[in-house]
Amino acid sequence: MVVTTHNHPDHTYDLPMLADQVRQYNQQVEKKNRKYITYLLDEDSHGDHKDKLKGSHSPRNSPRHLRPDTSYSDVPKKFGVEFDVFATEHDNNLEHSVGLVISLRENDAVKYKIGITSDTRYMAILPKLFEGCDVVVCHFSSLRLGEFGGKQQSPRRLGYTGTRKIIQKTKAPLFLITEFWGGKGDIRFPVLKQLRLDKNDDNKVVIGGDIGFMLNIPDGQVHCNRCGRWVPPEEINTPRPARDYETLRYLCKDCIS
Ligand SMILES: [Zn+2]
Ligand SMILES: [Zn+2]
Repeated sequence: MVVTTHNHPDHTYDLPMLADQVRQYNQQVEKKNRKYITYLLDEDSHGDHKDKLKGSHSPRNSPRHLRPDTSYSDVPKKFGVEFDVFATEHDNNLEHSVGLVISLRENDAVKYKIGITSDTRYMAILPKLFEGCDVVVCHFSSLRLGEFGGKQQSPRRLGYTGTRKIIQKTKAPLFLITEFWGGKGDIRFPVLKQLRLDKNDDNKVVIGGDIGFMLNIPDGQVHCNRCGRWVPPEEINTPRPARDYETLRYLCKDCIS
């Protein structure tokens, strides 16, 4: 399944390539072994990209577009996924950007809930939308000068001020801070350090998100990239990589020492 939240190039330009790989794969396997992607796309990305995705989705399952204030479920039998969509305020040229609350169900009971801000300015409704979430994924974007002082807030992005407000006002045990814009250097470590200092609640865990972060659902344990054990998120460390922009590694307390 592929889900997009808004039609900015860093979020959607891989769609045609991904679709092409699936088409090539399906050429080589028997019909019964073909694989298809289910697409849930925000309306702007849907309009721009849907024609380039032909052949990578089942003929009976065309790319759907996500409308705010609507729920989409992936036809569950025993296990199911439900996407609750809300409108975000990000870019005046993108009318249909959205964020998500994803509920994972087992036998109709919600077992785990994931909140995703997507790229947006801070909106007062966000902590309410994320009520009951086990993890909230914040799209940090860029940092404005002076933001650590709490005075300036970006009109289009969460940045430091918006991310800090979400952490402080949302009752969730785990926050993953992702999508740092790279145009002002590798700002991840000063930002994460300041967020941890400012969060005003000792029980909330704040971790930088990256490829390689693996969460076990529903117990919420995190995979150590070195020894392979699953440990509680508060025991995970992300040491600063040797070079700027390198992928983060997630290490348990035995592996960090
Ligand atoms: Zn964006
Ligand atoms: Zn370990």
